[in-house]
Amino acid sequence: MKTELHTEWTIKDICEGFVYNELEGKGLFGMNGKLTIQPEYQRNYIYADGKKDVAVIDSVIKGYPIGLIYFNRREDGQLEVLDGQQRITSLGRFVTSKFAIVDNGIPQYFRGIAKDKQDKILATKLLIYVCEGTETEIKEWFKTINIAGIPLNKQEVLNAIYSGSFVTLAKEEFSNSQNSNISKWSSYIKASINRQEYLECALNWVSKGHIEDYMSLHRYDTNINELKTYFNSVIDWIDSIFFNTYPEMQTVEWGRLYEIYHRQPYNPQEISTKVSELYADECVKNKKGIFEYVLGGCQDSKLLEIRIFEERDKKTVYARQTQEAKEKGISNCPLCALSNDNNKKRIWTLKEMDADHVTAWSKGGATDIRNCQMLCKTHNRIKGNK
Ligand SMILES: [Zn+2]
Repeated sequence: MKTELHTEWTIKDICEGFVYNELEGKGLFGMNGKLTIQPEYQRNYIYADGKKDVAVIDSVIKGYPIGLIYFNRREDGQLEVLDGQQRITSLGRFVTSKFAIVDNGIPQYFRGIAKDKQDKILATKLLIYVCEGTETEIKEWFKTINIAGIPLNKQEVLNAIYSGSFVTLAKEEFSNSQNSNISKWSSYIKASINRQEYLECALNWVSKGHIEDYMSLHRYDTNINELKTYFNSVIDWIDSIFFNTYPEMQTVEWGRLYEIYHRQPYNPQEISTKVSELYADECVKNKKGIFEYVLGGCQDSKLLEIRIFEERDKKTVYARQTQEAKEKGISNCPLCALSNDNNKKRIWTLKEMDADHVTAWSKGGATDIRNCQMLCKTHNRIKGNK
């Protein structure tokens, strides 16, 4: 890979003819069209938070360096930003007065700044490496650089490695903040659109967790039909079964549950009633587990992490049971007392016993002292497995 260092380019040179696409949140071109700011494998502009973008401008005004910038020179002579896209987009947006900095408590847009100060900003020189190499070399290298401030996340790196028609189309669907489906998706998925997280989720579902294989296999596809259809099937399936949405739905592994349960018939009215009952039940500690529990026919209560009895309740019940047992000359485990083995009269210590719901939790029994009995560990285990 060939590299040359340029120190002569100014902010004015780079921002000449700057084009920003508000819709996609992308800086597109600079240097009068000669520079592509956001190649396919770059992420969306994430500095527009009124802090990181302002910090870039502050550094320039104070004369601090904003770090090395890397361009790639393509075979056709066009330049692409490899690293520095966020900084260049901040500069371009500032000099085109798309955001303000605050000076002495007053917001200042570029167009409102004194001419000499404007000129000073525009005349600031940047440090830019221009690289020339094969696609593989450039991508290998791109993988290893760590963009100042916010490192690329896993999906952003994969988009860079497998850039091509498939990623372009997939980003149009899943990384497009104008997509009107996002509000629906966000009920079931916790994701940020400009960090490629919906795309990651969609790929994860369709590939059953093998995102990299899937991206490699489909890299040059000219459609994303399978990805889109599968994703929508999962979303529609959730939508058709659960009438209400709950915050915890965002953390459920829907892709996995869809694979297990989507062929089963459900009565959405019953499901909704059951879900809201469980939500209201304060014994259910793991709200997120409710959805899998209900889809599985309300069998596996381990998913709900049912609240256990308090230590002091166990001690109270133990003391009462033990005293009564001693008076009657039987075991303090009521099930041992009913048996005909050696433990019929055995008095267990507190440590040798566990608390049990007299009426099972799944049959409406509460987790409070009135529904608590102490059983020896063996009998507790046997009863728990029924
Ligand atoms: Zn027992």
